[in-house]
Amino acid sequence: MMGRVRENDLKLPALYVIWERGQATTTEIKDALVDLFRPTGEDGQILAGRNDTKFTQKVRNLMGSHYETNGMADLAVKDRLGRFVLTAAGERYLAENEGDLERVFSRRAQGTLLYGDTVEAARALDGNHGDRGALLILSEAETVAEGGISRVQRRARQRSQRLREAAVQYYGRNGRIRCAACGFDFREAYGELGEGYIQIHHEEPLFLYEEEGIEARLPAALQRVKPLCANCHCMIHRRRDAPLSVEELRALIGQRS
Ligand SMILES: [Zn+2]
Ligand SMILES: [Zn+2]
Repeated sequence: MMGRVRENDLKLPALYVIWERGQATTTEIKDALVDLFRPTGEDGQILAGRNDTKFTQKVRNLMGSHYETNGMADLAVKDRLGRFVLTAAGERYLAENEGDLERVFSRRAQGTLLYGDTVEAARALDGNHGDRGALLILSEAETVAEGGISRVQRRARQRSQRLREAAVQYYGRNGRIRCAACGFDFREAYGELGEGYIQIHHEEPLFLYEEEGIEARLPAALQRVKPLCANCHCMIHRRRDAPLSVEELRALIGQRS
């Protein structure tokens, strides 16, 4: 599922760019946001007869024609030379979200968040005033082991663990769980050794605030994960930037057998 960016999704990211540089023109903000988000799909396509993509058009509206009415005017002001600087309110708002934005953009740079995910994260942060704690990213990439993980990552991992347990229960039948793509059952193939083994694939990351429990979000979260065998899981991620959907993989297997 590809999330199309909305103007409001870009508010905090624009403040982030201005803050990083001290000041920035609309063109600089636009270029920096393209680098941070790396829009793909419809948002990345050049509009007919223009120099803009749908994405950059949104940035222009945010800082230009809609600037007075969309709330940006309270957060950043423009000097005579067309350079934006943050107001005190803008600085405060950014400070409450800066760590989260940094984490989201670094994941985007590493490729562990796709464009649509990055948009969704920015949307989750819009209007956040820090009282909900840090934004947790629940994705496969976040659960891989790395040394000296942060408090935020630890929290994300605990929630991921809970999501995994719930997924095994939800997708399992009588204690058995099959690959959602090919039907492979580890218990059936390997006996006792295979019992309980399955990989949980995140079709989309889940964004959750630290102060928010996962239980209420579980029904929706379960729709974003699928149980897969190791082979199918590898194949789904074979093209790193464009993972297949489970349906696509299933169709592919169907064609071949
Ligand atoms: Zn499989
Ligand atoms: Zn996966």
